[in-house]
Amino acid sequence: MPRYLEQPEMGKILSLSKRRGFVFQSSEIYGGLNATWDYGPLGVELKRNVKDAWWRSVVHERDDVVGLDAAILMNPQVWVTSGHVESFSDPLVECRECHHRFRLEDLPEGSGCPDCGGPLTDPRQFNLMFKTFMGPTEDSANQVYLRPETAQGIFVNFANVLVSSRRKLPFGIAQIGKAFRNEITPGNFTFRTREFEQMEIEYFVKPGTDDECLDAWVKERMAWYIRYGIREENLRLRRHGEDELAHYARDCYDIQYRFPWGWGELEGIANRTDYDLRHHGEASGDDLSYFDDAAKERYYPYVIEPSGGVDRAALAFLLDAYDEEPDSPTAEKADVRVVLKFHKDIAPYKVALLPLSRNERLVPTARRVFEMVRRRFAAQYDDSQSIGRRYRRQDEIGTPYCVTVDFDTLEDEAVTIRDRDTMEQERVPIEGLVGALADRLDKDR
Ligand code: ATP
Repeated sequence: MPRYLEQPEMGKILSLSKRRGFVFQSSEIYGGLNATWDYGPLGVELKRNVKDAWWRSVVHERDDVVGLDAAILMNPQVWVTSGHVESFSDPLVECRECHHRFRLEDLPEGSGCPDCGGPLTDPRQFNLMFKTFMGPTEDSANQVYLRPETAQGIFVNFANVLVSSRRKLPFGIAQIGKAFRNEITPGNFTFRTREFEQMEIEYFVKPGTDDECLDAWVKERMAWYIRYGIREENLRLRRHGEDELAHYARDCYDIQYRFPWGWGELEGIANRTDYDLRHHGEASGDDLSYFDDAAKERYYPYVIEPSGGVDRAALAFLLDAYDEEPDSPTAEKADVRVVLKFHKDIAPYKVALLPLSRNERLVPTARRVFEMVRRRFAAQYDDSQSIGRRYRRQDEIGTPYCVTVDFDTLEDEAVTIRDRDTMEQERVPIEGLVGALADRLDKDR
């Protein structure tokens, strides 16, 4: 697909998000809550499509991955055993004058306060887990954590899933869900927030096959972003240095996206070894090792973990889809067409049904066609303002197809399908409309 704009400014994405209902500031009428966002009517569709595309590719299209939906609240011992209570922290420094706080790694070495230039304290470890209390008594015996990653819900269910789904290694468990981190410096819109959604796979393998499996998942996950529309030149891989690996990891790659403010992580793919299963097995007393029938040996599986963020992926899809096309040079007034060139599976709505006008002769047919279409596809009905304006409104939210019902329809029982990207129009009989749309929508799957 040709592109006219290399990359939009964040300001354009922020204003489009609010104006069209992708993302709103959370509790805005009360002045908001720092770096907390709500997804509006279009944003929620976008996010669901991102999650569905992920689920389809890692669960439904594979023979070796099953799903799970674990609770956010877990027995607090989970987080002791996993090492999060001890080491899930960032080094934090505070300005002695303005008392603003920063992540040490965000500051150039030896610098003063970036806000006022004042001197900074020595770094101290700041644990990123949110704490709360379960039940009516707020004492330490009732303290629980909001999970900072969904992964632990998978590890503690390893034996349940293994037995109930009669799996053999290698196999994986996939999960999508909220995670919470008390980030010191959230920001860059939905890129770094304190409440976010993760899409994680824990893929269990025989030790010794882990390096090869890590490479395979890195390729697979990179290909997923490209399949769903991210331009290759806006993606890159970065391998972690020894000194930056998480406490559980032996190796790790980040898939990064070229955000308007620079490269940022979309997903981490880590070799977590047997760290989690071994520790949970030992601490709980339940045997979480695996008996390999073929090799007649017992061991703790190694784990390869592709861990992505739904919010970051949705933001990258939005940024990468945004384009501004110059109007035809013959147009009276130079104008641009704002169009979100989403992959069809990612677009919030697939079809818009547009009656040429609100004329009462057209309405019953238009409604009848809309009822047919919406049963199969996420569709909108829009009958306000001129047809040209309505096309533009749909382009701006990335709807791949507009279906127009006009006065000829009343005679020939046919409608016009207009393509978002080519703007070409084609007349099809109402009878074959759903099939014609399905063919088009399936084409680049
Ligand atoms: P970062 O270095 O950006 O803080 P991380 O390496 O701590 O990220 P992981 O622990 O690997 O992140 O989490 C897996 C994924 O979860 C990330 O790739 C990202 O997509 C998402 N994620 C992590 N923290 C946040 C956050 N604060 N806001 C939004 N998404 C997040």
